Amino acid sequence: MRLGFPRALMYYEYYPFWAGFFYKLGIELVTSPATNREIMEMGLKKATDETCLPVKILVGHLMALRDVDGIFLPRLVSMEENTYLCPKVLGLPESVLYAIPESEVYTVDINWREGKRKVLHSLLAFGSRIGRTKSQIREGFAEAQRWQKAYQRMRNAGWSFEESMVCFETLAEPIKLKDLGFSRASSECRKPQKIEDGWLLDEGIHNDSGKVPRIAIVGHSYLTYESYANMNLLERLREKAQVMVVENVDANPIEEQQGHLHKKIFWSHAKKIYGAGSFYVEDPEIDGLIYLSCFGCGTDSMTNDLLARKARQNQKPYLVLTLDEHTGEAGLVTRIEAFLDMLERWGDYEGNLSSYGERLDYHSSLT
Ligand code: SF4
Repeated sequence: MRLGFPRALMYYEYYPFWAGFFYKLGIELVTSPATNREIMEMGLKKATDETCLPVKILVGHLMALRDVDGIFLPRLVSMEENTYLCPKVLGLPESVLYAIPESEVYTVDINWREGKRKVLHSLLAFGSRIGRTKSQIREGFAEAQRWQKAYQRMRNAGWSFEESMVCFETLAEPIKLKDLGFSRASSECRKPQKIEDGWLLDEGIHNDSGKVPRIAIVGHSYLTYESYANMNLLERLREKAQVMVVENVDANPIEEQQGHLHKKIFWSHAKKIYGAGSFYVEDPEIDGLIYLSCFGCGTDSMTNDLLARKARQNQKPYLVLTLDEHTGEAGLVTRIEAFLDMLERWGDYEGNLSSYGERLDYHSSLT
């Protein structure tokens, strides 16, 4: 059996879980190709106008899955205690079924908020649909959790998203990664980047002044790593700066940052983005933040505003890049370059004062 899995939305965080699960069940999980013009156009044509860009891209990926026996699209309700995924994710797969009327769609509800037993219960029900026994599903579930943990360890150890995904997509038995200890790499995996004082050192970085700025990108994983939609933002920045992302921040500091709010954020992605963003705002080693926002995203409108206020309070340079299908490459590049130039001048000449005197917004009631 070959099941198609779209390389979009939750692929960027939970692909290892499903790869491990289906590997154990002897089912081949086929991912759609990386986003390209054709996929993007199919998604834009078919998806409803008012939805967000990541869901439009997902529709394109679903349509690009061919030569498979069915499409697997889980309904992710909650991935940790006291949080939910956003309503647009919760509405899957029903909200996109119209785009693939000919395909058989397999789905399963995943709600960690109700505990591990409930998740297993859903998987067992799903197992009967794909002709697997209870014990096979139990083994698959255990394997899935091991693969997901291995992925998280790789990310915490400094592996980039691309490096870790190559392992899970190409190794026959990625779980052997646990034997790697992250100090030696498999011949099929690229070595993790060197870590020095907790920083990833990207050898591609060059900077005329000799000082490499350190920038944090905060945003949804499915935008940060979606290089077609974000027009190679990560690669462009890595040529000139050391780049940190949301996934480089552990769960503990994220949780700690929530404690400063009157009310905890219950949307999982918004929680992670706010927690990691606040952590970077307070980190003196970070020179500036880029918020990669998505036009039409409800949770972004809230987290962006919270982070902008916090950045202003801490006098941390902060840039918002909002992406949608109309975003032009030239405009994006100009804004990044202007931001990097501003960081350089800020560090070299201006401190926290602009050439015109004290920052006008510093004592504003908004801060
Ligand atoms: S969190 Fe925002 S970007 Fe993500 S699916 Fe929901 S609306 Fe779209």
